[in-house]
This record gives sequence, C-alpha cells and structure tokens, in this order.
Amino acid sequence: MITITDINVLDSKDPLKDKKQGFSIPPGLVYLDGNSLGALPSGVQNAMTTAVETEWGKDLISSWNTHNWIDLPLSVGDKIGAIIGAAPGQVVCCDSISVNLVKVLSAALALRPGRSVILSQHDNFPTDLYMAEGLTALLGESRCRLKTVDADDIVEEINESVAVVMLTHVNFRTGALHDMAKLTEAAHRVGALVVWDLAHSAGALPLALDELNVDFAVGCGYKYLNGGPGAPAFIYAARKHLANIHQPICGWMGHANPFAFEPGYQPAKDIKVFLAGTPNILSMKALDAALDAFDNVDMNTLRQKSLALSDTFLRCIQQDPCLSQLQCVSPVYHKERGSQLAFRHPHAYAIVQALIEDKVVADFRAPDLVRFGFTPLYLSYEDIWTAADRLSEVMASEKYLAPRFQTRNKVT
Ligand SMILES: *Cc1c(COP(=O)(O)O)cnc(C)c1O
Repeated sequence: MITITDINVLDSKDPLKDKKQGFSIPPGLVYLDGNSLGALPSGVQNAMTTAVETEWGKDLISSWNTHNWIDLPLSVGDKIGAIIGAAPGQVVCCDSISVNLVKVLSAALALRPGRSVILSQHDNFPTDLYMAEGLTALLGESRCRLKTVDADDIVEEINESVAVVMLTHVNFRTGALHDMAKLTEAAHRVGALVVWDLAHSAGALPLALDELNVDFAVGCGYKYLNGGPGAPAFIYAARKHLANIHQPICGWMGHANPFAFEPGYQPAKDIKVFLAGTPNILSMKALDAALDAFDNVDMNTLRQKSLALSDTFLRCIQQDPCLSQLQCVSPVYHKERGSQLAFRHPHAYAIVQALIEDKVVADFRAPDLVRFGFTPLYLSYEDIWTAADRLSEVMASEKYLAPRFQTRNKVT
C-alpha cells in the first residue's frame, strides 16, 4: 500500500525537484500530457521577447550575422545532440519529423543502391508510414518498398533485401520501448541501415546514438524537449555518412555555399545538407531557450525518476478498486517501457474529457486508450497521487457518462 506519507518522502528525496520551478504551469493543474506538448519553460518568454523586440524589431536583417540566426539550426542541433548521445556536428534542427523522414529515408536508400525495402512495424506512428508510402509513389517500387510487420517479428524480417529499418523507439500508444542496440546491430549485420524516430524518447530517457552506431534518427521539438507548439524537429546523421548524403529536398540552405547563388546544387558535406529552406528562427529561438531546462540534468537520473513516477502511478491505480476497469496496455518491465502509461477502457475519450475538467490533463488515443505521460522535469510524486485520486473520483462517480464529455474535438 502506498500512502501520502510515502509520496512526501519520494518528493523530499527527488534530486530533480527544483527543476519544476523552471516551468510555468497553471496552479492546481496536473499536466500528464508533456509527451504530446511539453509545458512552457519559464525562460522561453524572455527569449521570445528579445528575439522579437531586439533582434527582429531593432537589428532587423543584420541579425542573421550579429545574432547568429544563420547558425541556429546547428547550435540548437548540438544542444539536442548533448541530450541524445551525439557528438557535435551530427544534429540539425529543422522542419517537422514528417518532412525530415523523407530526407533521411531517401539518403539511406541512396546509400544502399541494390536494395529497396524499408522495414517498419504495423503500429508505427502513421505519419512515418505515410512518408514511406509517399516516397514509394515518387521513386517507384523498384527503389522503395515499405514492408510492415508485427513488433515481435522485426528481427527475423531483417534480411539482405532490407535497405533501411525504420522504427519508432517508444511506441506512441503503449509506450513499449524497443531495444535500440539489438535492432541496430541486427540491421548492420546484414548490411542494412537504421532510422530511429525519437519522438517519445528524446528528453525522456538516456540515448547513446554515437555509441550504438545509429545511422540516422529524427525527433520532435515540442514533446519532451518543450519547444512549444509546432517547434522544429531534428535530424541526426552519423558523421561517417555526412560526405555522401543525397536527399531530394535539396534547397539552398543545404547547398555547400548558399550565398554564392550558383545555378547548380552542390550538397554541403556536413549536417547542413539536411537543411532545405530558411530556418524558422522564432520557433527555433523558443526551442533553444527551452533546452536550457536540461542544463546539468543527468539523463540517467531523469530516467530513474520517470520510471519511479510511472511505477507510483501504477501502484496507486492497482490499490484502488474504483480503477480496476482500467486495463494497462503498457509493458510493466522497466527495460521495455518509455515514459508513459496507457490504459484501455470503452469510455476512454469521455474519461479523458472528465479528467481535464478536474484539472488533470491526459490524452486519448483512438480507439480506446487513455494515455498518461510522465515528464520528470516538472512533475512531483504528489502530482501523481493527485492525478490518481481525481481519476478515482471520475471512475467511481461515472461522471464521464455525462453528455458534455461525449462530443469529440477536432484534436484528440
Ligand atoms: C509526434 C510524432 C510525430 C510527429 O511528426 P511531425 O511531422 O513532426 O508532426 C512523428 N512520429 C512520432 C512517432 C510521433 O510521436
């Protein structure tokens, strides 16, 4: 049995407890949706004011040089690199995951000319599969063919026909965590490359992309990295591939010498080769400031807290008879789980809406999942206790059956 006294002890011993002050979260709100849109780090507002008032407002176009706007995709990329186990010069901040997947998948296919298969998993995040489909339509089946299999069958399906294995590290629905080392090695053993989607892992758990010889990765700026709505995403490419990248969104910012304005494209020989058009400076400034929340944060400590928060939530749920109808679909073993928990219930959508009214923000994923994200930088154990308590009330009272909770919003 876990009690509020245990919770208070956990909070008092939490090495990350002071980090919460660095975020603006409305009082009384328990925010368990940082895996969809990270909370607002307090430093972002000042950074935005400076970027708008001084850099854009006063210094205008000279800011490309004087405030180093032009290098922002690289400097923000390196900041992200420090969080995901990448040495400098291999991460660039740009565009969205969807667009970045076209770039890295094309680059990977071009590096494996005799092969055409992109191997992925049925329940990957849909945009990843859609982008591979789009690439097939562009290149033809002889150059690009998407094959999807069940998670359990991936290793045995990695064979010599596979050019690239494209997987999402942490499953967006269940939080199931792939063994990145094992799968990357299995791909390399047969000469295939890997593309990892880190949408639900960057900023949530320790990563070691360089150490594991990962070829390419993409990830999200607005989830655990807290860069704000629509924050630019990122691309990681191993240094050894950088001189041989061919990708079709070859805009001027990825040219070896953009300001020479030459008529023909010459790819940059560094990570800039993945840039296409003018970087989104304002949103990148927000992400840049947001990443300071990770200063001096040891990712192993963060991971320990993420698991402890999720375990605490699970224990609260298991010990409450009112919550027995919520069926956990997330793996229980730490090695197999990311930083979220999902529960199945036929009224999942309405339950989430009722919880939001009670100031606990979780989210719904079709067809029947209630999803809770655990962000160690701004959640306390007491938040977890409060969330379980309010969830218990919602379930016991069946208030979620009220008509006002049944209408689906456009974004769920
Ligand atoms: C959130 C998410 C995305 C988002 O892609 P965008 O193109 O940046 O909107 C992609 N993949 C996964 C696994 C995600 O969870």
